[in-house]
Amino acid sequence: MRVIIIGGGWAGTAAAIAARKAGAEVCLIEKTDMLLGCGNAGGIMRNNGRFTAAEEMIALGGGELFQLIDRIALHRNVEFPGHHHATLYPVNTIEAHVRRLVLEMGIDVHCSTHICDVVCDNNQLKGVYADSGDLFEGDVFIETTGSAGPMGNCLKYGNGCCMCVLRCPAFGPRISITERCGGQDYQGERQPDMFGVFSGSCKVSKESLSAALQEELNSKGVALIPLPKEEINYDKLKIKACKQYAIKDFSENMILLDTGDAKLMTSYYPVEKLRRLPGMENARYVDPCAGSKGNSIRYLSVAYRSNAMTVDGISNLLCAGEKSGLFIGHTEAITTGTLAGHNAARLAAAKPLLTLPQTLAVGDLIAAANSAIKERHDTMERFTFSGGNYFNRMKEKQLYTTDIEAIRLRVEQAGLLGVYNEHV
Ligand SMILES: Cc1cc2nc3c(=O)[nH]c(=O)nc-3n(C[C@H](O)[C@H](O)[C@H](O)COP(=O)(O)OP(=O)(O)OC[C@H]3O[C@@H](n4cnc5c(N)ncnc54)[C@H](O)[C@@H]3O)c2cc1C
Repeated sequence: MRVIIIGGGWAGTAAAIAARKAGAEVCLIEKTDMLLGCGNAGGIMRNNGRFTAAEEMIALGGGELFQLIDRIALHRNVEFPGHHHATLYPVNTIEAHVRRLVLEMGIDVHCSTHICDVVCDNNQLKGVYADSGDLFEGDVFIETTGSAGPMGNCLKYGNGCCMCVLRCPAFGPRISITERCGGQDYQGERQPDMFGVFSGSCKVSKESLSAALQEELNSKGVALIPLPKEEINYDKLKIKACKQYAIKDFSENMILLDTGDAKLMTSYYPVEKLRRLPGMENARYVDPCAGSKGNSIRYLSVAYRSNAMTVDGISNLLCAGEKSGLFIGHTEAITTGTLAGHNAARLAAAKPLLTLPQTLAVGDLIAAANSAIKERHDTMERFTFSGGNYFNRMKEKQLYTTDIEAIRLRVEQAGLLGVYNEHV
């Protein structure tokens, strides 16, 4: 059973771990020099319903990445507007920890390997080509290339290339494997007929902040600076990917979180204006480098798929993460990636595929995102356990809880305790 994964973000990494645990030989291919993709720029876990999802994953046997993050977290139980019990991981060191874990599991990792083409015959994917001409052949493939970039899309739908962590100019553009195989992706919209959305946060070097602000971030994990009246712009909330932060506190304040750097909860903000805020007189962006004027544009290439994560119309291709729906978040990428990885091994072994029940938040999110597209063709809604309409739905369906024993029981009642630990 040889499973090839294209895209080494949180979704691809989780898929690799799950496929490996299910008994497959796994090759994980990533265009940049680092795994984790947008995960090198984020850091917020376990906020709101993501807590429930993380604990479901642990009970399902797919908890390695959550447990690693919990172990090295900088802050736990952080509260900030609209969000409870968040964990913040260190974005500057997380990749090295994850890479070690993946290598120790015997996963064949190919970084700095940009996939540019496919060999697809009769709706079956045979192999993928790297720029170098190397051909990676396998039985089953998983596409986890995300939905941001390439540069042309950031120019067309955003404010140009903002030099984000995906570094398209250096490592090559995102490509769509599904489209190379002859399928057609759909695109998310921020307003009717306006495609793509801006990523919702930037990183500022913590040492460029005042000693008092650094101290507040180091001790509490969060700092909040009220914006002057003339700087409050409620319209800016509409362009953001993250619906969970589209609440007025995020327009009226500059909210900073400590992820090793200072995470600014805004898509972009001119540095000269930033420096007018108390404590930020010397502020400097570290990611994206051009955080003064823009951010990466996402949701530009999403595949149609089943709730078992198989791509419609291609017999041996699965997908996960942002490639598989209008999902926001690391937790969402890890949960969909784990299911795709596990099912890739099942598909290779000609075993029935797993679909998670909607009595679990992780199963419900996957199904809800699918029906929004397939039944309503709603390309404006976005799905995250951490806020917006989906978190409301979790609460209405009584799926949201922080009671770890109740979550374990729920997974047990579904007959799925430890399912991701099983060899197929
Ligand atoms: C600035 C920013 C801040 C964020 N903050 C948070 C946060 O705090 N908490 C949270 O939960 N979520 C956050 N998110 C959202 C979250 O990061 C994403 O939703 C999630 O990580 C997506 O994971 P993914 O694996 O689907 O995609 P990606 O992370 O985009 O990974 C896709 C990978 O595929 C690779 N790739 C693409 N094309 C090719 C190719 N042709 N060949 C080989 N490799 C290829 C890319 O280089 C990339 O590594 C943030 C996002 C951004 C951009």
